[in-house]
Amino acid sequence: MKEYDVVIIGGGIHGAGVLQAAVAAGYKALLIERQALASGTSSKSSKLIHGGLRYLESGQFALVRESLQERAVLLRIASELVELKPFYIPVYRDTRRRPWQLKIGLMAYALLGGFVASTRFGSVPTAEWSKLDGLKTQDLDAVIRYHDAQTNDAQLTRAVVKSAMSLGAELAMPARFIRAVLSDVGVVVTYNASGAEVQVKARVLINAAGPWAMQAARAVEPATPVPDVELVQGAHIVLPYPLTAGIFYVESPTDGRAVFVMPWHGATLVGTTETPYRGDPDQVQPLPEEEEYLLAVVRHYFPRLNTLTRDDITERFAGLRVLPAATQSAFDRSRETLFTTDRDARPRVLCIYGGKLTGWRAAAAQVMQRISPSLPAAVKRAETDLLILRRPA
Ligand SMILES: Cc1cc2nc3c(=O)[nH]c(=O)nc-3n(C[C@H](O)[C@H](O)[C@H](O)COP(=O)(O)OP(=O)(O)OC[C@H]3O[C@@H](n4cnc5c(N)ncnc54)[C@H](O)[C@@H]3O)c2cc1C
Repeated sequence: MKEYDVVIIGGGIHGAGVLQAAVAAGYKALLIERQALASGTSSKSSKLIHGGLRYLESGQFALVRESLQERAVLLRIASELVELKPFYIPVYRDTRRRPWQLKIGLMAYALLGGFVASTRFGSVPTAEWSKLDGLKTQDLDAVIRYHDAQTNDAQLTRAVVKSAMSLGAELAMPARFIRAVLSDVGVVVTYNASGAEVQVKARVLINAAGPWAMQAARAVEPATPVPDVELVQGAHIVLPYPLTAGIFYVESPTDGRAVFVMPWHGATLVGTTETPYRGDPDQVQPLPEEEEYLLAVVRHYFPRLNTLTRDDITERFAGLRVLPAATQSAFDRSRETLFTTDRDARPRVLCIYGGKLTGWRAAAAQVMQRISPSLPAAVKRAETDLLILRRPA
């Protein structure tokens, strides 16, 4: 039976990040992915590498600071994959947040981002509004411009795995995790590859199966805590109209939620929604009412597109957020990365869920810190904030 220090279930951004962090720290690591890298949530996000301006309102300052730090690291190490973009927030007579409130928020954003050049913001002069892709100017009081970054989430995930493999990480794919049996010294992990059952030994098993993490957690014997979470669906649509100015951050005319209208490969990507989801994670897809909700945003803010219908949608996808179970609305719930372990001292299983694409490197570092008591001393091979990530072929 092959032996590893760390075995990871799930080739999304979190699994990829832990794989890279483990081999960079000098450990022998294996990633098990049942379909393809980034085939789950990590190809269905809004594709933003951002501090999360709106999280300031819910007081998640630590999350915003960490995300802005990670944004800066990724702009440096993944410049082929992460690009700084202008973001525009139009403020109309009836917009909830006034320009001065946004500017206070952006001042805090700049402070938490260390006042680097990319945190600069200001108002777009009225004379330049005509260059904003046909944005509605009736009742427009101001347009605030700031910067955040956009990526290709699936390519980023693949780039991180490639980086990990260049340091000796192993990948089993397609390979489905079946079960894990815990002993005092570690875990025996069983997975299915090409119709055959394979068993390997690990000192620690990382459950990074995203929306499937609860299913994976139930396949651990003896039983370990299953995270108390809820799945919340987020849909995106692609429209065949190019945007050139940047990313528009607008309030939905239906319910005031924040929605992004973004340039995407010569077209426009619009998202997202928050719809509680209780079904099988494999079956998630945008609902007709979610598509109508997103179309209403585009029709409202871009009058030249006010005849859009669902027939104009060229691509649609939905992903699942894994959020801590709670009574407040999904929009207001914490977006921190969450961890559970089978025991406090020397964990054998760690489950990572929630979180953001942006924070994958910091989340992986936290995982390594939490599982370090279960691992022997090792000789570090690399620092992940110095490993350059290239766009995969
Ligand atoms: C709608 C939406 C928009 C978002 N937008 C942003 C954004 O703009 N910026 C940002 O920073 N974050 C964003 N996020 C958050 C971010 O996308 C997620 O936090 C992140 O992608 C989660 O990655 P993950 O690796 O935990 O899960 P996943 O990407 O879902 O990966 C889990 C993997 O596990 C595999 N798997 C499952 N079961 C098994 C098994 N039994 N055996 C083997 N493999 C298995 C799956 O195939 C899958 O590949 C968004 C999330 C959503 C839902």
